[in-house]
Amino acid sequence: MRLDWLDEAGVELALLRLDLVDAQVSGNKWFKLAPYLRQAAERGCDGLISLGGAHSNHLHALAAAGARFGFATVGLLRGLEQDTPTVRDLHAFGMHLHWLGYAGYRERHAPGFWTPWRERYPRLLPVDEGGGGLAGAEGCAGLVAHLREQLPLIGWRDYQQLWVACGTGTTLAGLLIGEAGAHELIGALAVPRGHGVEQMLPRLLGEAGRADAGYRLLDASRGGFGKVDGELARFMADFQAASGVVLEPLYTGKLLLALHDELRAGRIARGSRLIAVHSGGLQGRRAMEQRLQRLAAAAERPV
Ligand SMILES: *Cc1c(COP(=O)(O)O)cnc(C)c1O
Repeated sequence: MRLDWLDEAGVELALLRLDLVDAQVSGNKWFKLAPYLRQAAERGCDGLISLGGAHSNHLHALAAAGARFGFATVGLLRGLEQDTPTVRDLHAFGMHLHWLGYAGYRERHAPGFWTPWRERYPRLLPVDEGGGGLAGAEGCAGLVAHLREQLPLIGWRDYQQLWVACGTGTTLAGLLIGEAGAHELIGALAVPRGHGVEQMLPRLLGEAGRADAGYRLLDASRGGFGKVDGELARFMADFQAASGVVLEPLYTGKLLLALHDELRAGRIARGSRLIAVHSGGLQGRRAMEQRLQRLAAAAERPV
């Protein structure tokens, strides 16, 4: 990346562009899903059933994969039926949708939640929200090898920090497994502290039989998951204008703004080489496009 604020801080930044992996099955969700697709095939399932919201990157990736590879998909959605660009795509990909309401969706971690759905769809493999769980994390562990293979292409022999946005923390857990302590890992929380990431990381590392080699979590949520403000919208617009790279506001925009703020605060040593994961999710931006433009225009102060 060539950006003024990186030059000023004397730091180099490269992006791992998971948004470019596939036009439809985008970002970290593909890597989290791949092990579940393998499990479904091994067990002779007809497809997969999972949960998410009306803008869910996870359900979008699952439905797109089902359409591409020819397996059945069922989505259990949060809230009341809504029409969003994501939901329109889910229908177009042939995903069968059930709207659970808000109270119904809150039951998703309760024992017995899956029982009626297993009875109704005995030939579908249930997958946790967001493609979480150990299999999802292990699917992301391989990203570290992909990343290292590509370092010579940008003339780097090494890097000091690896940054990633956290929703559930599954992707960060995968990177921790892949890095095995080789580099400092920073998770930018898209959800406020106390929403489960702190518990998820030790749990997944324990299940994987890995020692905790250490990582740092920063609150990048800006007041709540999905909260978008003028400074964020302005930062994303400037980032896109300067680099050509499109970010979305829930994860990757907040990740890079948190990284920017750490640099500005002088907390990253000059001469460092950083890698940030662009975890995709751009499909979810469509429903917010106008709001982002309005917010960015209103926030005059350039970041
Ligand atoms: C889901 C998602 C994340 C968060 O991934 P976790 O594994 O849940 O932490 C980050 N970025 C994007 C774009 C996502 O869609």
